[in-house]
Amino acid sequence: MSISTPVSFEFFPPKTEEGREKLLTTHATLSEQTPEFFSVTYGAGGSTQERTINTVIELNNKGICTAPHISCIGASQEKITELLDLYKANGIKRVVALRGDLPSGMGATNGDFHYASDLVAFIREQYQDQFHIEVAAYPEMHPQAVDFNTDLRNFMTKVNAGASSAITQYFYNPDAYSFFVDQVRRAGSNIDIVPGIMPITNYTNLVRFSDGCGAEIPRWIKRKLEAYRDDVKGLQAFGADVVADLCRHLIDRGAPALHFYSMNQSEPTLNILDRLS
Ligand SMILES: Cc1cc2nc3c(=O)[nH]c(=O)nc-3n(C[C@H](O)[C@H](O)[C@H](O)COP(=O)(O)OP(=O)(O)OC[C@H]3O[C@@H](n4cnc5c(N)ncnc54)[C@H](O)[C@@H]3O)c2cc1C
Repeated sequence: MSISTPVSFEFFPPKTEEGREKLLTTHATLSEQTPEFFSVTYGAGGSTQERTINTVIELNNKGICTAPHISCIGASQEKITELLDLYKANGIKRVVALRGDLPSGMGATNGDFHYASDLVAFIREQYQDQFHIEVAAYPEMHPQAVDFNTDLRNFMTKVNAGASSAITQYFYNPDAYSFFVDQVRRAGSNIDIVPGIMPITNYTNLVRFSDGCGAEIPRWIKRKLEAYRDDVKGLQAFGADVVADLCRHLIDRGAPALHFYSMNQSEPTLNILDRLS
């Protein structure tokens, strides 16, 4: 069922032993796709950090490279150094470097880092080329961005600080991706920009996530999903068709790889890969 375009899969750290068992099953199933790497998200402000560390080390020990997400907002240089030293000692060679968001209620921070570019620069200064550094990209703009050009300039600051490649926020409009990549090329960088792919499995969750992260759901997709609301199987089959089609467009337009937001489930991602192969 594999496709020739490289793939990677993102997980979140499970909260319970049952969640951990489920994740190990998902990990084993998705490993059959021979992904380039897995990644595990990280909660800013301390909420899931220990769980991320444990999950990353456990999965990396199974043989396929696993990249921890590291958010720097509110963190001290000592804390980040401690974390990176721990990852280095455990054979981790790839990280996803993020600013992150402070949990609501946490005000301005005394941390040593303000933006992801500060974290990228710090990692490069302290660890040179020991880590492949992924950064986040936003073809439809970061939700707090003032405007597209400012956001692009800020993205280029991360690239110039030493990012190795980028993974995008998910989107359903391939033109947004092509335009963003084109602007980055014009700004002088050949960095790989890998589309983040969000399978569609649940209308309400998708709308909620998308509102929060600034991803636009095209009107025709939204209307179709609304019509499927109680027909879960129909919605998921339509969602897989739509997202597989998006992936095909992206591959045709030169996407170097696809990064799937798996939500710790194998089936929605495999439904898309199946349609692609
Ligand atoms: C692939 C991916 C994975 C993610 N994983 C996680 C995760 O594991 N945990 C988590 O909490 N969140 C995660 N996020 C969400 C991310 O943390 C948020 O989107 C966060 O708000 C921004 O993080 P960033 O690294 O993109 O920040 P930055 O690149 O620092 O950008 C944040 C904002 O600041 C602006 N900016 C940047 N530099 C400057 C500057 N010098 N001056 C003024 N403005 C500036 C940018 O334009 C942007 O609006 C992920 C997002 C993506 C796309």
